Amino acid sequence: MSIFMWWFLISGLLFFFGAAVGSFLNVLIERSIEERNWIRGRSACDFCGHKLAWYDNIPLLSFVFLKGRCRYCRKKIHPSHILMEVLTGVLFVWWFWGGFIILNIFRLVHQPFRFVQPLFWLLVAVLLLVIVVYDLRYLLIPDWTLWLLLSLTLFYRVMLVLGGVMQVEDLVKSLVAAALAAGFLSFLWLITLGKGMGLGDVKLIIPLSLLVSWRLVLLALVGAFIVGAVSSLALLFFGRLKWQKPVPFGPYLVVGFLTVLFFGDQILNWYLSWFML
Ligand SMILES: [Zn+2]
Repeated sequence: MSIFMWWFLISGLLFFFGAAVGSFLNVLIERSIEERNWIRGRSACDFCGHKLAWYDNIPLLSFVFLKGRCRYCRKKIHPSHILMEVLTGVLFVWWFWGGFIILNIFRLVHQPFRFVQPLFWLLVAVLLLVIVVYDLRYLLIPDWTLWLLLSLTLFYRVMLVLGGVMQVEDLVKSLVAAALAAGFLSFLWLITLGKGMGLGDVKLIIPLSLLVSWRLVLLALVGAFIVGAVSSLALLFFGRLKWQKPVPFGPYLVVGFLTVLFFGDQILNWYLSWFML
């Protein structure tokens, strides 16, 4: 078999493995939100409470064969289940192609980060996916996802400093930028009496700020507000949203920060070029 065939075979296997991880994360999130025991007890249908057998719980396949409905009461299963499974699978494939093949085989990253770095971004991406999907569904962000994300980003930044890739000064500036951003959001949280955004959003901005250069934190925040305003207006226009109804802000923050992570420098240069004409 050629190397490409192997790569595709591995991609397929990783997709199913990722889908299984996504399915497991669904269970963890639902149990942590309902404050049930994380480990014990079998999964049950949200509607009829019927215990699910192992063959009702196979990632992707069960959803397809049961046409997205419960086998026992025929009620529709929430789309967040299949969404998490498919997208986590996609992230694992992305990790393999982007992180493993491109970075490692073409050697774009220096030791010791060749294996740590792609793994770090996979974990961050999966956590951000969990946060976005469940903020959209429940309007809250579970604390354990935020703690995990914060520990990961802090650990990674400290590793970069110890590895000599980044200066201590940059880490300090990032921490200050994160604190300022969190301060600004807590101010908004206070004056809107918690109606504009949740405390989860205030906590979320700290690890997000540590993921990007300190220069880009403000730009990401502005981006999040623009995306939030535009999409809220669009949803209002199409009648999918009512005034006064709370809006999840976490997904907009994630979109804002991911945008500057990938395109921040270009956006900043483009913006600055207007002043240098
Ligand atoms: Zn059911």
